[in-house]
Amino acid sequence: MSLPERTEFLVVGAGPTGLACALSLHIHGCSDVTVVDAVQQGEDSSRALVIHSATLEALEAVGCAEPLVELGIKETKLRIWDGSRFNTIADFTKLAPYTKYPFVLVLPQFITERVLGEQVQKRGIRVCRPHKVIGLKINEHDTNMTDVTFEDGQIVTTRYVIGADGSKSAVRHAAGIRFEDPQPNSTSQDETPPSTAQMVLADVTFTEPPPREFQNMAFMFSPNNAFLWIPMPDCAYDDTPERVYRVGAGIPTSMGVPPHAPSASYVQDLIDRYGPVANKLPTQRSPQYAVAKVLWSTRYRTNCAIADTFFTRLGWTAAGNQYYFGGVVLLLGDAAHIHSPAGGQGMNLGIRDAIALGSALATHVAYTEPVVSPSEYRELDKPLREWSVHRRARGITVISLTKRLLSFAGVEDKSILYWGIVPVNWAKLRNIALNIVSNLPFVQRALAWRLSGLGNR
Ligand SMILES: Cc1cc2nc3c(=O)[nH]c(=O)nc-3n(C[C@H](O)[C@H](O)[C@H](O)COP(=O)(O)OP(=O)(O)OC[C@H]3O[C@@H](n4cnc5c(N)ncnc54)[C@H](O)[C@@H]3O)c2cc1C
Repeated sequence: MSLPERTEFLVVGAGPTGLACALSLHIHGCSDVTVVDAVQQGEDSSRALVIHSATLEALEAVGCAEPLVELGIKETKLRIWDGSRFNTIADFTKLAPYTKYPFVLVLPQFITERVLGEQVQKRGIRVCRPHKVIGLKINEHDTNMTDVTFEDGQIVTTRYVIGADGSKSAVRHAAGIRFEDPQPNSTSQDETPPSTAQMVLADVTFTEPPPREFQNMAFMFSPNNAFLWIPMPDCAYDDTPERVYRVGAGIPTSMGVPPHAPSASYVQDLIDRYGPVANKLPTQRSPQYAVAKVLWSTRYRTNCAIADTFFTRLGWTAAGNQYYFGGVVLLLGDAAHIHSPAGGQGMNLGIRDAIALGSALATHVAYTEPVVSPSEYRELDKPLREWSVHRRARGITVISLTKRLLSFAGVEDKSILYWGIVPVNWAKLRNIALNIVSNLPFVQRALAWRLSGLGNR
């Protein structure tokens, strides 16, 4: 579809957050919405595999919760395999008094995007591909409007630019918004436990079906690492009759930098080292854990960053140093915040940002009076500023949660001297503590609550 010359709302990026935002805007009565994306087709990769309760509640408002729930697998427990038995560390059924969705929905990201895309199409929202945004400029005839420049030289004039264009966001760069780790002194890039600073994720099939107790989501804490195991719904790869599993593990620095798309033998090595039968020799490996096919695999560095603000106006200083305000720029999803995949939070947070933005923008757009002075702008922009402050606080909470989960998972298996005399092995202590606390109902409910996003809507 060709680009319009003008549009009220320009959503840059047709990933899950851009699509969710377009739907939310439309539902709130904003019909002149255009979504643009740099590539011809959405990325067909499974990436975010879980949708949490709070996100399903938000998706209900844009008509997507029901079709997604129909397609996904409802996992109700997060279990940890200690080598001989499972301990339940989070029990999502305990959230039933607070939500219609007391479970974690397992569904690969490309299906979530497909469902959102179908709703966007049903509503007749314009999606233009492939059109890559390269810059923003204040429109010289109407300073409340922004001229958005595309790689092929085309320009679209718009009142609202919504940057949902991923972690390397061109919109964020053009608006001059900083993007940094909000807690640089807590566990992050350099201080992340070496075993979880980089990770590999893969969707695989096995030569024979894994045993029954491994037919549900599970984590395994082995010395120095954490291993993830999630059975995927049949619809994920409908041309693959065998059950597909998402597996993942941290990559210790001693293993070097993992390849871009790890091979079957690389993934097999991780399963043998850290998976359900860790530490057995390959010759003892059962065909139930022998990788038959890798359908998708990737590596991931666990960086954290958040934009200084999710809302700004392009501005300029005229002769006499008078500062003027230009058009509105907003950031969503990975353009606004990134962190590790621990706890499966990234896409979830982005979708909730996006759906909340629809109502904030509908309030903003209702004010049509022309404004000029900074105080008038301050009043007019209140709903957007409040949305930005609220969503940024949510982002910081999620970043610190993912950092804590990651440092907990990656505790090193070595004894250190505490107070110079007492030898302590934090990994062993962690495992003992987990065994003790994990079957306590209040712990199971508290962790489920944190992961579900219900306390961080
Ligand atoms: C390996 C991996 C595993 C993950 N696992 C999880 C998980 O388990 N749970 C979870 O919640 N999250 C997970 N995430 C994170 C999740 O994938 C992201 O949070 C999510 O994709 C963010 O969505 P988005 O719409 O903000 O950005 P994106 O999905 O990155 O979409 C951005 C879109 O913008 C387009 N674009 C980029 N630049 C431009 C431009 N200049 N002009 C026009 N268009 C542009 C791109 O083509 C793209 O379509 C994972 C991510 C990865 C990489």
